[in-house]
Amino acid sequence: MSDNYDVIIIGGGPGGYVAAIRCAQLGLNTACIEKRINKQDEPALGGTCLNVGCIPSKALLDSSWKYHETESALADHGIKIKGADLDLETMLKRKDTIVKNLTGGIAQLFKANKVTWLQGTGQLKSGKQVEFQPLDGDTQTLQAEHVILAAGSVPVDIPVASVDQKVIVDSTGALDFDKVPKRLGVIGAGVIGLELGSVWGRLGSEVVVLEAVDDFLPAVDKQIAKDAQKQFTKQGLDIRLGARVTGSEVKKDQVVVNFTDKGGEQEETFDRLIVAVGRRPYTEGLLSQDAGVSLDERNYIYVDSQCRTDVPGVYAIGDLVRGPALAHKAIEEGVMVAEVIMGESTQVNYDAVPGVIYTHPEVAWVGKTEEEVKDSGDAYKTGAVPFAANGRAMAAGETGGMVKFVADEKTDRILGMHVVGPQASELIQQGVIAMEFGATVEDLQLMVFGHPSLSETVHEAALATDFKAIHVAQRRRKK
Ligand code: FAD
Ligand code: NAD
Repeated sequence: MSDNYDVIIIGGGPGGYVAAIRCAQLGLNTACIEKRINKQDEPALGGTCLNVGCIPSKALLDSSWKYHETESALADHGIKIKGADLDLETMLKRKDTIVKNLTGGIAQLFKANKVTWLQGTGQLKSGKQVEFQPLDGDTQTLQAEHVILAAGSVPVDIPVASVDQKVIVDSTGALDFDKVPKRLGVIGAGVIGLELGSVWGRLGSEVVVLEAVDDFLPAVDKQIAKDAQKQFTKQGLDIRLGARVTGSEVKKDQVVVNFTDKGGEQEETFDRLIVAVGRRPYTEGLLSQDAGVSLDERNYIYVDSQCRTDVPGVYAIGDLVRGPALAHKAIEEGVMVAEVIMGESTQVNYDAVPGVIYTHPEVAWVGKTEEEVKDSGDAYKTGAVPFAANGRAMAAGETGGMVKFVADEKTDRILGMHVVGPQASELIQQGVIAMEFGATVEDLQLMVFGHPSLSETVHEAALATDFKAIHVAQRRRKK
C-alpha cells in the first residue's frame, strides 16, 4: 500500500465517496478512509445516508405507504382488499437488501475509478499527514497534497431520554423494530420524527410526537407548515407542540416519559420511544491536537464558501460543516472541492438547495419563505394554488396541499417555491432549475405544461402570483 496520495478523504458517505470519485475522474491519486461496519459485520461505504439514513428510511416509507394504501386508501378507487397481512420481517429484509446493493455499488465504483478504499479510521495530523488505523493491523502515517474531511454527523443525545437502542432508540434503532410498537413516542417533530413516525403509524402504531417548540416546522413557510400539520394530524399523528420532555424511565419493555406543556406536568407510557432531536458534526478522533483546523461556535468545522478550512490544502464538507445536513448538499460540496483542488472555477449555489420531507403528503421547499422575505422588508408577491384544483391530482385522489411561489414584486424574480402535496420531492426540482437560471414568475407563466399533470399546479401558482390563475377564483389584494 502506498503512503503518498494526491488526495486523502476521511469519511465515505455521500460527501466523501462522491469527492473521491470526482477526484479520481480528474486524474488524482485518491484514497478514501472509511471505518463503518454494517449490520452484516462487513466494511461498508455510503455513510449515514446509504446505511442508516436516506435510503433505508425511504425504503420503509415506500413499503409502509403501500401497506397503508392496500389496507385503507384504495377503497375510494373501488378496490377492496380484505385482510392485508403485514410481514414485517420481509419488509425489513427488503430494506436491508436495497442498502447492501447500493453500498456494494459504491465499492464497485471505487474499483472502476481506481479509488483506494482504506478500511479503518483516519485522523488528521499537522502538515497534511493522516494517521490511518486499519480495521486490523498497525497504524500507518500517510501523506497527502490535499485532505478532505467528510466524517459526517451523529444523532444528538439528550440526558432526559438516554438511547439504549432497545426501548429508547435513535433513528438507526427506529429502522429495525422487530414488531410494530402499539404506542410509539417520538421526541422531536423534525424531519426524522415525522418520516419515521409516519412509517410506524402506517404500520399500525399509535404515534405521539412531543415537540419542544410551539411552532410546527418553524423553518418551513408558515402557510405550507400549517397545511402539512393539518394533514398529518388527520392521518392520526398526535403532534404535541410546546412539549418539553423532563425525564423518562424504562420499566420492563416500556418507557414512561414525563414532559411539561401548556397544561402543566404530563406523563405518557410508550412501547418504544424514538429520540430525533437533531444531529451534530462528528469530530471525535478526527483531528489531532496539532491539526490546526478551527471549529465554529457550534462545533462545525469552520470553512469558507468553497469548503476550505483555515489549513491550506485541507477541506471539509457535508454534515461536518455549516448549512443543512442533507446528502445532496454533501454531494455537491464533494464535487466542488475536487474541482477546486484542480483549480477549476466552481461553486455550490447554497441559495437553491432544496429540502424535502418524505411524508405523505411530501413537503418540499427551495429558497426563501414568505416570512423571511417579509422580514427583509423587500416588496414581494405570492401565489398559492391547491392541488384540489388540479385534474391529475383529482384522478389520483391526491388533492391535499398546494404549490406556492414567493417572488420579488419589483424584479419578478422567484425567491422561493414551497410545496406540500403529491410528489413534492419531484415538483420542487422545477423551482430549483428556475432559481438556478434566475427565472422570473413570468418565465414560468409563459411555459407550456403537459396536461393533465401535477406540474400544472406549479404553472397555476406562478400565474397566481399575478392574479392570472385560471382554475382558482382569485381576489386581488387592495394596495
Ligand atoms: P455521513 O453520511 O455521515 O458519512 C460520514 C462517514 O464518515 C460515516 O460513514 C463514518 O463512519 C465515517 N467516518 C467518520 N469519522 C471517521 C474517521 N475518523 N475515519 C474514517 N471514517 C470516518 N438527507 C437527505 O438529503 N435526504 C434524505 O432523505 C435524508 N434522510 C435521512 C434519514 C435519516 C434517518 C438520517 C439519519 C439522515 C438522513 N439524511 C437525509 C441526512 C443525510 O444522511 C446526511 O446529510 C448525509 O449522510 C451527510 O453526508 P456526509 O458524507 O457528510 O456524512
Ligand atoms: P431536526 O432538526 O429536523 O428536528 C429536530 C426537532 O426536535 C426540532 O423540531 C426541535 O425543535 C426538536 N427538539 C430538539 N430538542 C428537543 C427536546 N429536548 N424535546 C423535544 N423536541 C426537541 O432533526 P432530526 O429530525 O433529528 O434530523 C436531523 C437532520 O437529518 C435534519 O436536520 C436533516 O438535515 C437530516 N434529515 C433529512 C431528511 C430529509 O432530507 N428528508 C430526513 C431525515 C433527516
